[in-house]
Amino acid sequence: MGVVAVAVAVAVMPAAAQATSREFGEMVDHVITLPVDGEHHLWDTFWAARSNETGVHHAQDIMADKMTPVVAAASGTIRLVNWSSRPDDLNPERCCTIVLRHDDGWESWYIHLNNDTPGTDDGKGWGIAEGIVPGVHVDAGQLIGWVGDSGNAESTAPHVHFELRDPAGVVVNPYAALRAAGANAPAPSDAVLAGVRVLRQGMRGADVERLQQLLAAEGLDPGPVDGIFGRRTDRAVRAFQRDHGLTVDGIVGSATRGALRRVAPAEGPVFDRILRKGSIGNDVRAVQSMLKAAGFDPGPVDAVFGGKTLLAVLAFQEANGLSVDGLVGPKTLAALGA
Ligand SMILES: [Zn+2]
Repeated sequence: MGVVAVAVAVAVMPAAAQATSREFGEMVDHVITLPVDGEHHLWDTFWAARSNETGVHHAQDIMADKMTPVVAAASGTIRLVNWSSRPDDLNPERCCTIVLRHDDGWESWYIHLNNDTPGTDDGKGWGIAEGIVPGVHVDAGQLIGWVGDSGNAESTAPHVHFELRDPAGVVVNPYAALRAAGANAPAPSDAVLAGVRVLRQGMRGADVERLQQLLAAEGLDPGPVDGIFGRRTDRAVRAFQRDHGLTVDGIVGSATRGALRRVAPAEGPVFDRILRKGSIGNDVRAVQSMLKAAGFDPGPVDAVFGGKTLLAVLAFQEANGLSVDGLVGPKTLAALGA
């Protein structure tokens, strides 16, 4: 009997463990409801550098006007409001954040909710819907709060900082899940570095081709750059892993991706959209640097098109005889020397 029990345990445990063993930053096809109900946009900023414990942003910033409704990404129970688990003490001085534990064990975090009286920036408002306190159950899509700029977002354009954790507490990149939920967000520009999926021998696709390019650029031999992860690509991945002191398993997961990200040539900004207040991305960062170089003050060069960047754009347009509309399109870019 003892032998049978052990055999069952061995057979079952790896599958059970695998069900929750996602990697930090992995994009997941977990189904969620779009957490903002209104006009919005986002850009994949999961891996943007930040001085926090992970060193990266590890969330998505959903840019939207203040007071845009924020809704539950899934049915679940409110776990924390303003980092408090006590319905009778909601830490008003830490307004306004919500942590929602989904019924399926996942968790979503909503940060920088509104803290202003509508129409002002006075920090005297409350961006959490009535009745939303720890312990309360909500349905997917139910109103839980409103977009704002509270916490350390006071100097940026209003947005919801949205984090998604799996049942084991692993922070995943919710970008693909948000896109699948209908978010207004462009396709990831680099599927390998963004971590859309874990790559291994036998897989095919544009991301495999990109991986082969990165390996070849490192002087390794992945075989033909054909999008097919065969034996030579596997060998090149293992050589890369050996060179970087990683586990040599031929699997391109978060550790290998992290090393690839460090060696990959920095991607130049691609200007393929009109930038405006609320835009966020490398293209905004480049515009902010160019404004600065031209003698205008866009505020911090932080890739977020906020109020200061808008004023700098308006001043630049005025000074250069352009239409003073605050929109950075081809004409303004040309004048900036992009
Ligand atoms: Zn954020």
